[in-house]
Amino acid sequence: MIKSIGIDLGSTAIKIVAIDEERKIVFYKIEDTLPNTEVQITKIMKNVENEYGFSASDIYIVTTGYGRNLVDIADKKVTEITCHVKGIFEYFKVPGTLIDIGGQDSKVALIGDGGNLIDFIMNDKCAAGTGRFLENTAWRLKIPIEKFGKMALETSEEVDISSTCAVFAESEVISLLAKGEVLEKVVRGLHRALVRRIVGMAHNVGITSNLMLSGGVVKNLAIQKMIEEETGTKPLIPENPQIVGAYGAAIIGLENH
Ligand code: ADP
Repeated sequence: MIKSIGIDLGSTAIKIVAIDEERKIVFYKIEDTLPNTEVQITKIMKNVENEYGFSASDIYIVTTGYGRNLVDIADKKVTEITCHVKGIFEYFKVPGTLIDIGGQDSKVALIGDGGNLIDFIMNDKCAAGTGRFLENTAWRLKIPIEKFGKMALETSEEVDISSTCAVFAESEVISLLAKGEVLEKVVRGLHRALVRRIVGMAHNVGITSNLMLSGGVVKNLAIQKMIEEETGTKPLIPENPQIVGAYGAAIIGLENH
């Protein structure tokens, strides 16, 4: 039975996680964020109420993410960093470093023994270091983002991408391809540039022996592999890294109710 619902209103995707009393996930949903969040969330909730046979008004709802103040359905609103840390600690129950890579922001958190937040940094000002860095070029090349990582893993060679800006990197890729560089090598280089940037940011907080990953971009296997290569640490990754924040929000709801 559903006891708590967490909703992560990300700038790129909305994630909804419903959990039972034992903190087990009853269902989850991921949808691309549309311009009118309030209308979208009302529609999604109506659909899941019908599908899973419950009334949202009976369930404690915690919202998080950049859009949490745009909707009215929450019993409680909690910051993204708190929810991500809560969610990842629930999965792995270890202190360490969490790297979260979303569509338009990325964050790094240092987590203490009991799951407490010790320190964090967030980048939400620059597209380089976020999913947008890959998406721009994937769109331009008409390659589905789900296949981009696989393409990067099809070669072991890579072409260096020197641009640190997402917009310039896209132009650089196009010009490299026009000069005859192999697509897979260029795509691999683009992944490397993103990972180096994020790992560089993570060093400012500290990369500890338990390295954990979350966020939609972490579904990309090349990103997972390169983070391991660049840090020398095999990361702990939940089955679906994109729902960690929403899961954390649902756990907070359960604990507060
Ligand atoms: P936000 O919370 O900022 O909305 P998310 O954590 O939901 O972001 O992640 C969204 C990002 O994840 C997008 O940049 C999207 O391209 C990427 N993404 C989602 N699914 C996949 C996938 N299967 N493979 C690669 N990237 C993905």
